[in-house]
Amino acid sequence: MTAAVDPPAERLLHDLGITEPGEIDVEVIAHAVGAVVRYRRLGSGDARIVGLGDRAIITVDERASRVRQRFSVAHELGHWHHHRGRRLICHGAADQQDGVAGCEREADGYAADLLMPRFMLEPLVAGVPMSFGLVYQVAAAFGVSAMAAALRLADVHPAAFALVVEEADGRRWFRRSASLNPRWFVRSAASDMRATADRCRLPRANVAFAAPAQQWFLGQGVKDAEAMYAIDRMACGRAVHLVVVT
Ligand SMILES: [Zn+2]
Repeated sequence: MTAAVDPPAERLLHDLGITEPGEIDVEVIAHAVGAVVRYRRLGSGDARIVGLGDRAIITVDERASRVRQRFSVAHELGHWHHHRGRRLICHGAADQQDGVAGCEREADGYAADLLMPRFMLEPLVAGVPMSFGLVYQVAAAFGVSAMAAALRLADVHPAAFALVVEEADGRRWFRRSASLNPRWFVRSAASDMRATADRCRLPRANVAFAAPAQQWFLGQGVKDAEAMYAIDRMACGRAVHLVVVT
């Protein structure tokens, strides 16, 4: 079910009469709220926004991939909505990681709402099990990165699951789905996970296999639960572990 009050990005889509993923044209949407998008070579970061009164210019790095550019425009529109008049510097990684500052998180949330609105995504995932196959299907349908799609599915998909993400530099963080038991802790020891994957002779990415939930979670009732596990190395260079409670 959708929330009683639509988030501002989804309200904007409704106001503009946008009803299909293919209609989410970030340049047109930006124009509707007084912002012009231009593509240039940027020295640092993926994008920036400069506003004056009710007009703004969003500049996006011309060398970034199209999905990243779209997310960057949507992210800057998030700043335009939530943080107008404040001076902000956006640091790369617009397709999200934990630990980013509050404003960046808010802008990322706005971008996810704008590019993958619940009212379009919920019908698409209804009755479809959570998997990397679904992640790539959503990424293709909505023109976003696989990482952005996976994180959005953690908000919207009804399954209980966790994503454990390994950055290229070895840092790890995780994201829980909305319906994962809040008293279960995620074991984020990815080396153990890799060992598990190796032990099970994981033939290739995107193949899920069953395993006891307690290999990935700690908490009451975990030892009686089963899970499906899969790993995927995404184009962004991150390795993502998906553990779905079955
Ligand atoms: Zn930002």
